[in-house]
Amino acid sequence: MKVKKFDVLTYDEIREKLTSGELTCESLVKSYLGKIKEFRRLNAFISVFEEKAIQRAIEIDEKIKSGDAEKLAGMVIAVKDNICIKDEKCTCASKILENFISLYNATAVERLLKEDAIIIGKTNLDEFAMGSSTENSYFGPTLNPYDEERVPGGSSGGSAVAVAVGLSTTALGSDTGGSIRQPASFCGVYGLKPTYGRVSRFGLVAFASSFDVIGPFGNSTKDVALVLQVIAGRDEFDSTSADVPVPDYLSFLDKDVKGLKVGIPQEYFSQGLDDEIREAIERRIDFLRESGAIVEKISLPHTDYNIPTYYILVTAEASSNLARYDGARYGFRAEGVKTLYEMYVKSRSQGFGAEVKRRIMLGTYVLSAGYYEAYYRKAQKVRRLIKEDFDKAFEKVDVIITPTSPTTAFRIGEKVDDPLQMYLSDIYTVSVNLAGVPAINVPAGFDSKGLPIGMQIIGNQFDEGTILRVSDFLEKNYDKKVNND
Ligand code: GLN
Repeated sequence: MKVKKFDVLTYDEIREKLTSGELTCESLVKSYLGKIKEFRRLNAFISVFEEKAIQRAIEIDEKIKSGDAEKLAGMVIAVKDNICIKDEKCTCASKILENFISLYNATAVERLLKEDAIIIGKTNLDEFAMGSSTENSYFGPTLNPYDEERVPGGSSGGSAVAVAVGLSTTALGSDTGGSIRQPASFCGVYGLKPTYGRVSRFGLVAFASSFDVIGPFGNSTKDVALVLQVIAGRDEFDSTSADVPVPDYLSFLDKDVKGLKVGIPQEYFSQGLDDEIREAIERRIDFLRESGAIVEKISLPHTDYNIPTYYILVTAEASSNLARYDGARYGFRAEGVKTLYEMYVKSRSQGFGAEVKRRIMLGTYVLSAGYYEAYYRKAQKVRRLIKEDFDKAFEKVDVIITPTSPTTAFRIGEKVDDPLQMYLSDIYTVSVNLAGVPAINVPAGFDSKGLPIGMQIIGNQFDEGTILRVSDFLEKNYDKKVNND
């Protein structure tokens, strides 16, 4: 089987070429812009900052010449279109925000710009980050570059495609229940969901506030680590951002895995998991064992409750967060209305898509007086039990390895009319957000259809360093040397 290959550059390769003079930021940005046009049909971007990006590249070239360029000079980044960039549209792939322009930068964006990164545009997503396929976008679906009849995963599908094809060096996404890891898995790239509170949510449009987190996509573990290094840390604009020191993530790379304890939760390898994915992950687990890691079976006993608990809690939070789109304050307002009430109803009915409405209805239902105790309160309790499963596991192991998704990329249209099937594609990722711990998707070869397989490495709270260590070890020692699948 022939697997498609795309021309991508890691940031190390870019820095080398910038230093040798083989490349300038300007020529680099122009080549990315050219590729964005060439791959227009994939619909990865909602907006592209052609002139601004070239202008900024010229400025950074000057800084490089005069020797005062910052850490990420020449890194070209694509940003999911639910993260605010000053004076640019932030649509959330929704008609209701189609013409909304941000008044400020998200903290993550602000920090990247301070390090001389160049932002090239904003990427497509499922409306308000609700979905697993990037089909729920007002601007049409994004296509998977490995098979254009298939989905790229979601909701950060545009960011995953941009990095996989080389339309940008890295990208930002957001992850509420898998939206960085699952599209990273479907597109064969690295994608990291940080610990809840590790990265400021200031300027990220809220979906489910106690779950949401911004994180990076890259073509190498190091690229993901570099971006995380810059965006992580306490922010006075987000009271839920953690006041925990940010370690030097690069110091976790180029290490071995001797003595590292790896837990394999049996519940994540049962029914419903595609055999080719299981085998690919088992080969990597064997390799870690041969390399000195101590691998043991563990149990996360509340796994069966992950999906129902997640969908009760996120829909409740979403229904509250999305109440602000009322036609009065933001974006779209319906025309020809006679009363205030009619304006609310029509603006929301016409402005939101089907999946968003479904979630608002579910959320208001589980929060309503008669059902609050039975659903919302119960789900909060189960969330605690799920979190305790992870706490117990991390008393014994350093990392937990699972598949990222039970299947590789599915066909466009295959699951849109069956929300339950769609929700199940996050069966291995939502628990991580329920527990608030960090996890990364690591590319794990391809299946017999030539589609990327993804492996998930989960770490303890604020221990992004250790999952980066394992990811980097596999990237350098397995994927570059041993792997021929
Ligand atoms: N697919 C999940 C959902 O639809 C996760 C979304 C996300 O992480 N933003 O809720």
